[in-house]
Amino acid sequence: MRKPVIVGNWKMNKTIAETKEFVAAIDPLVHDKATFGIATPYLDLPAAVEGCKNLIVAAENCHFEDKGAFTGEVSVPMLEEIGVKWCIIGHSERRQMFGDTNETVNKKAKRLIAAGMTPIICCGETLEQFEAGQTEEWVRSQMRGCLDGLEAEDVANLVIAYEPIWAIGTGKNATKEIAENTCAIVRDEVRKMFGDDTAERVRIQYGGSVKPENIAEYLAEEDIDGALIGGASLKIDSFTAIINAVK
Ligand code: PGA
Repeated sequence: MRKPVIVGNWKMNKTIAETKEFVAAIDPLVHDKATFGIATPYLDLPAAVEGCKNLIVAAENCHFEDKGAFTGEVSVPMLEEIGVKWCIIGHSERRQMFGDTNETVNKKAKRLIAAGMTPIICCGETLEQFEAGQTEEWVRSQMRGCLDGLEAEDVANLVIAYEPIWAIGTGKNATKEIAENTCAIVRDEVRKMFGDDTAERVRIQYGGSVKPENIAEYLAEEDIDGALIGGASLKIDSFTAIINAVK
């Protein structure tokens, strides 16, 4: 049985003071039916790590090199030092606006795994690709690129987030059938690359306009093992409702 993993992706939202207020309210509500967590801007991470006993804390990105001339970047050892154990990589916003590719995501995944950290590897197609029926081919190739050269055991322990770009921040969530179908394709690609055991163990999230009202229907699907949640993770009320909607 895969335990659901539900992570709020704050993106570029919340100050340190707002982070402290949020985790003080939310952390005590976390129960053990799922792994719950928040991904915060770098500056908020120390406050999040300090305030979270139950929530896992993730960074939203990292660099694959440990140090050097990479202005504005943050490395895995820097995250390790402040107690961060999870990291989102390859979010579509990073791919579209900041040049992340399957190749850099692969390097980041390897560096995180070497540090004993858990990557949340994002994939997903554009509206154009979706409408042209290219979703399957696209997410399979994203998986091949992002997971290339990893060990089966490491893949079993990481998290993959399927996020159709057309559903992110648009309020137009994918139907549970579409989400399930693509998550099953992602799992099938993992099976092809790493075998049955890894495919059965890896947790695959759906992301894109998940909210308290629809999270339960996604979690009821066979191949959806959680959610990556943007907008609805920002307010104490709606994150509380999300936690309560997971039984
Ligand atoms: P959304 O964002 O829930 O606001 O659609 C999801 C994400 O980008 O991870």
